[in-house]
Amino acid sequence: MGPGPSDVNPRVLAAMARPTIGHLDPEFITMMDEVKAMLKAVLKTNNELTMPVSAPGSAGMEACFVNLVEPGDKVIVCQNGVFGGRMRENVERFGGIAIMVEDEWGTAIDLAKVEAAFAANPDAKILAFVHAETSTGVRSDAQALCKIAQANNALSIVDAVTSMGGIELDVDGWGIDALYSGTQKCLSCPPGISPVTFSAKAVEVVKARKSKVPSWFLDTNLVMGYWGGSGKRAYHHTAPVNALYALHESLVMLLEEGLENAWARHNLHHQALKAGLEAMGLELLVDEADRLPQLNSVKIPEGVDDAALRSALLDNYSLEIGAGLGALAGKVWRIGLMGAGCTRRNVMLCLDALENTMR
Ligand code: PLP
Repeated sequence: MGPGPSDVNPRVLAAMARPTIGHLDPEFITMMDEVKAMLKAVLKTNNELTMPVSAPGSAGMEACFVNLVEPGDKVIVCQNGVFGGRMRENVERFGGIAIMVEDEWGTAIDLAKVEAAFAANPDAKILAFVHAETSTGVRSDAQALCKIAQANNALSIVDAVTSMGGIELDVDGWGIDALYSGTQKCLSCPPGISPVTFSAKAVEVVKARKSKVPSWFLDTNLVMGYWGGSGKRAYHHTAPVNALYALHESLVMLLEEGLENAWARHNLHHQALKAGLEAMGLELLVDEADRLPQLNSVKIPEGVDDAALRSALLDNYSLEIGAGLGALAGKVWRIGLMGAGCTRRNVMLCLDALENTMR
């Protein structure tokens, strides 16, 4: 019950143990088509450029920035936790100019500040933000942020590593231009794959670049030769065959459950966890309106030894909860309720373990 990787369902682990076949085998190519169709369904998009990058969420992040940012481009980057800071790193490493909009850790991105940043920088090309900040447990209003980007003729880059599968996400409905996620959170898959999607507008921007995409591996023009929709698949890199079996199975399971049902399950167990924590006198960090059900930041009470408590949970209950990161280190615990780990049984285990250990 940490901030990810989350528990992996045995069905997904079993899928992963299937024999490794060729990454251009007709059976495998059929499976790739299915993965792509299911990713589109889960992300609610018709984007042709929708694919799993063969590397973790950080590579998905890099795929978005390396393709869309050219030297001298202005990018408005929102930071209200750890991962917005990494976006800034990406912008600057690819020669862009990051215009930072900062909010306190534990609060949502302030829309008025973003509007003010566009007013001061009408030539900004991109707005980049984290939908679900795993370092704090905050959900920002992705729909409203994308609307601001559109009103200012800018593209949006959205980090959905922790949101995908756990809370509402609607790529086409909200007009998201580029999005990356990860398999190890609410998809409950082993880590190491990053679903990515680019709108037709974003693809046009990549095609119209003045300079070559500075990464060969992440250049969408090249990798789409393997993941594109033409039916023909040309070798680009050796796909992580077994990891894609796992992703396929986890997407089958998510769609069997139904997206809305999965979101409702995350909310239900979050409410139960919250009620139990509050009954114990514990307090959540984030305002109710901005809380992520899948990542609960709990203020560590005075007098409780953070590291000793987490070790005791691990030793006595085989239960992992996350430590605070960055500015919140030593101040909060991060309790994950992600994907297959988001169950009534886990809520009860966690409350029981915390109560007995804090006594
Ligand atoms: N963005 C967010 C919001 C994350 O939570 C994480 C990982 O926890 C990442 C990006 C980076 O993903 P990865 O660790 O898979 O590279």
